[in-house]
Amino acid sequence: MDTPVVLGRTASPGGTSAPAAPPLSARRPFHLLAKPTGPICNLDCEYCFFLTKEALYPGDRFRMADDVLETYLRQLVEAQPDGEVTVAWQGGEPTLMGLDFFRRSVELIERLRRPRQQLFHTIQTNGTLLTDEWARFLAEHRFLVGLSLDGPPELHDRYRVDKKGRPSSERVLRGLAHLRAHDVEVNILCTVNAANQDRALDVYRYVRDELGIHHLQLIPIVERDNDTGFQEGDTVTDRSVDPDAWGAFMIAVFDEWVRHDVGEVFVQMFDAALASWLDLPPAMCIFRETCGDALALEHNGDVYSCDHFVEPRHLLGNIMETHLAELVGSPAQRRFGEHKLTSLPAYCRSCEVRFACHGECPKNRFVLTPDGEPGLNYLCSGYRAFFNHIDGPMQLMAGLLREGRYADEIMGIFAAADRNEPCPCGSGRKAKHCHQA
Ligand code: SF4
Ligand code: SF4
Repeated sequence: MDTPVVLGRTASPGGTSAPAAPPLSARRPFHLLAKPTGPICNLDCEYCFFLTKEALYPGDRFRMADDVLETYLRQLVEAQPDGEVTVAWQGGEPTLMGLDFFRRSVELIERLRRPRQQLFHTIQTNGTLLTDEWARFLAEHRFLVGLSLDGPPELHDRYRVDKKGRPSSERVLRGLAHLRAHDVEVNILCTVNAANQDRALDVYRYVRDELGIHHLQLIPIVERDNDTGFQEGDTVTDRSVDPDAWGAFMIAVFDEWVRHDVGEVFVQMFDAALASWLDLPPAMCIFRETCGDALALEHNGDVYSCDHFVEPRHLLGNIMETHLAELVGSPAQRRFGEHKLTSLPAYCRSCEVRFACHGECPKNRFVLTPDGEPGLNYLCSGYRAFFNHIDGPMQLMAGLLREGRYADEIMGIFAAADRNEPCPCGSGRKAKHCHQA
């Protein structure tokens, strides 16, 4: 385990000249998650990996100072090309900064952006501190709100508790009610863990039907018990999702979605998969061949290679000393992104669904392949089952799109199929036992 170290700024901002902006030709789009409260949160979700990150900054108050905020926003617009610029906040729990911090942020970046840049604001929150005033502000500035919710209350409350161990679902739903009252766009971020892994349809239908939310992101919980590199016997915590259950969960949700909800409900993972079947780069870094375009900014200006690697060996530098664009384009960051490809085991390189999976995220690659090579993804069996299962429908949808038609026509194709004939998905099963079941 890494020794905790203090990663604060080494020079006072007043004593250094501002890092220079890069030339326009050096700018390329990237995504950055800013964490204004570091790992600090008002909840104490049992599986949260951020809470352990407090040890990186011992004694810190974990609040982004105004000079860091201004430097960050200025460098963000300088570093990004023209077009859409996303300002993304997450935590910990970013709403702990208070509404005024976000008011300042929006005002500042509106002043700083170039005329050809359009701003897009996002915030990821547990929702428990949202009020009517928050919702009005978020609606006014068209924030996309990622709301963490793990399904119906009995599933959500299994791990998502506050510091006194009390359930949080009631407070989350109160926050959501405020958002809905102001028509704020909401994306549900649902972790799949040991408590809800066998309840895929309950989770999906709850979000779609009871909450009426049509944007869903599924996140597998994989927590390592030990960090010994790659050894047989490495284990995960009891809260972690089982790899096969993860595959079954995605398959159950996909089969419901592909029969009823294409074009109506947006499940990030399915969109990413469809992109892969169309030979386009998926929007999710975990399914790309290489990564390195999704960085994390800590409250004090430290920039890390990725939100999942906020640790000393992946610290790129601090924006008060080095311009963000330089950190994003640094050799260290390029190496980080390429490592996703160069570390892929031979087992993955010959896998029939590699084009869609690419070994998923390196953070989950800690088991051995059947022939003993290190670096296989813990979730491999689930992904392999899932990507093979969706191959037929994905080929159908990709074909429709290539013909200039709509992907949602697939639902009509399934519905119109002769029940006793082979299913149009190509599974070989009769339609009545497949996508008409
Ligand atoms: S390490 Fe994982 S989460 Fe981070 S950028 Fe790479 S694929 Fe994405
Ligand atoms: S499904 Fe498994 S073997 Fe195939 S690319 Fe993904 S992790 Fe590798």
